[in-house]
Amino acid sequence: MDLTHVKGIGEKYIELLYKANIYSVEDLVSYYPYKYQLYEPEVLENSLDGVVVTINAKVFDTPKVSYIRKNFNALRFTCETYGKVIKVTIFNRAYLKPHLTIGKEITLIGKYNSKTNTFTANDMKLSKIEDKKIVPVYHLIKGIKNSVLTKMIENALKEINTFERVLPKEVEEEHHFLSKKESLENIHHPKEMELVKKSRERIIYEELFEFMFKIQYLKKLKEQEVGISKSMDLRKIEEFIQTLPFTLTGDQRVAIQDGLEDMIEKKRMNRLLLGDVGSGKTIVATVLMYANTLAGYQSAFLAPTEVLATQHYYSIVKLLKDTPYSVELLVGSMTKKEKENIHKRVQNHEIDILIGTHAILNEHLFFDNLGFVVTDEQHRFGVNQRDLLKEKGMRPDMLFMSATPIPRTYALTIYGDMDTSMIKEKPVGRKEVITQVLQESELKIALLKVLEEIKQNHQVYVVAPMIEENTENDLKDVYLLKERFQTAFHGKVLVEVLHGKMKKEEKQAVMNDFKNGDIKILIATTVIEVGVDVKNATVMLIFNAERFGLATLHQLRGRVGRSELQSYCYFICKEVKERLKVLEESNDGFYISEKDFEFRGEGDLFGVKQSGDMTFQMANLKRDYEILLEMKEKVNDFISKEEYLSYPYFTKIVQKIDFRN
Ligand code: ADP
Ligand code: MG
Repeated sequence: MDLTHVKGIGEKYIELLYKANIYSVEDLVSYYPYKYQLYEPEVLENSLDGVVVTINAKVFDTPKVSYIRKNFNALRFTCETYGKVIKVTIFNRAYLKPHLTIGKEITLIGKYNSKTNTFTANDMKLSKIEDKKIVPVYHLIKGIKNSVLTKMIENALKEINTFERVLPKEVEEEHHFLSKKESLENIHHPKEMELVKKSRERIIYEELFEFMFKIQYLKKLKEQEVGISKSMDLRKIEEFIQTLPFTLTGDQRVAIQDGLEDMIEKKRMNRLLLGDVGSGKTIVATVLMYANTLAGYQSAFLAPTEVLATQHYYSIVKLLKDTPYSVELLVGSMTKKEKENIHKRVQNHEIDILIGTHAILNEHLFFDNLGFVVTDEQHRFGVNQRDLLKEKGMRPDMLFMSATPIPRTYALTIYGDMDTSMIKEKPVGRKEVITQVLQESELKIALLKVLEEIKQNHQVYVVAPMIEENTENDLKDVYLLKERFQTAFHGKVLVEVLHGKMKKEEKQAVMNDFKNGDIKILIATTVIEVGVDVKNATVMLIFNAERFGLATLHQLRGRVGRSELQSYCYFICKEVKERLKVLEESNDGFYISEKDFEFRGEGDLFGVKQSGDMTFQMANLKRDYEILLEMKEKVNDFISKEEYLSYPYFTKIVQKIDFRN
């Protein structure tokens, strides 16, 4: 309903409301208070010194204003409250003086000191509060006072009498919810906090029900998507696995099995492979690409950066060296001619497996028969990338890999529309990375270890203190560090720098020299090189660690400890923060992500791109996790029984979702 229907909302206010994303009456009534102020008048005699109380009082003499300094004044007067005269002080309310005529009944909120008989008020109302009063407090909308907004919402509520049903009747009855209208009235005009609580609960349930509906419905759609039903000789896959340079872990095997089943089925694969850093996801993808090739289809493997794509290319070529299949690399910085050549060969099916950055999807690249797409470090791409292929009219099986262990809450929400496989086991023989959080003054401890490891011909990563990629200042820091390390080692070890501003060839050259062991110390920026795999690197040194989330730090730590060598990780901080201790305690990414979540709360999910759908007016995924789970069950029922077809509210949502896909 249009805002113009509401009494008291003129053009000027409409404009202000629009700016706060409030476009309709419905939006307005779901602009909820973020807190409530409770006023309950007391008798001063019964109150304790120093505790905030609300009292009713009568002005006893004419107030005096004293100006203490610029922008700071005090208003002093005496008041009578229940037969007792007290001295009152309130700061910065000089402008109220004319209203405080003798005999005027007012309400004071503040603290009393019985020794000096003074009442220091922090708030004052120019009327008497008869009874307990709960005042809703809204986040300020620029240009609209809280009291005006309260009135607007009151008027808006009068305009709406029916609400579309969101919660199934049974859920409503089970929880004895108040009606939607009553709930909104309680929330905006609270009488009892108990009722506010009950009413808020209803809204939270509605929000989470709708949210889970969208996710589960999307999942259902995806499950119905017809893919390619592939057939291949499973014995050949087993033979291939036997040629690998190591034994697969149980979890890796299960993940491969899951993927194979998806491929064989007619249903399109829509699977997330979650596994901590170093858990060995690449090999799972490689076996599945092998299977896809066996079945006669082409595969694409997408990585977030060129360095990573190139690295994957070399390791996958190596793993497939005894097969007749052709693997190629396609990255944005190749020459036009090189690219065109690859395009042609992809189109002619002379290339079975194409590895590259996701940019390759944007190019005019046509496959002969693309059957399988792997996306590495999925969380760095954001959700929409998934749909890119659809626009090209392809329906390949999709495998998404992520090393960012999402706390369970978010796993359900971000990836709720996908099937998941999880790798929890680490490959055998891996030693836990020994981790220490150090203050800058203790840097020497780390440097001694660097020296020791370099002597054993191992290699070292140093992550430079930058937070914003590519700013000139930060780069200076990186080069400064390089100099310092060179001096410390008397120029005897090769120290190099790697950062996002370097040209592709430069980056590649540095990476190669680090991989083959010429470069001993690599000073890198944080963001670019997730997923880099150099087994001989045994020390990770991170400066200004306090600036990063635990999950990011854990990912960085995952660059070492990738072989049977004992590895070390040092987090250097300006001051040691409690949360970083979690990294000393644990090497378990899932545990760490839960902790990170606890410390940082939601809204700041270590680089995971959140979809706009994840913001709620009232619900809070973390606090309301149990409700979310409950709603998931209810929604499952709701969808499978096709109840949603009889709810106008959900048929509208469905139309939108169908349209988007
Ligand atoms: P991530 O899951 O972080 O992408 P990778 O796939 O890069 O991990 O694997 C990390 C390292 O572990 C690689 O060097 C890989 O060859 C090795 N690896 C993978 N699986 C096993 C295994 N089952 N046994 C021993 N090493 C393995
Ligand atoms: Mg990886």
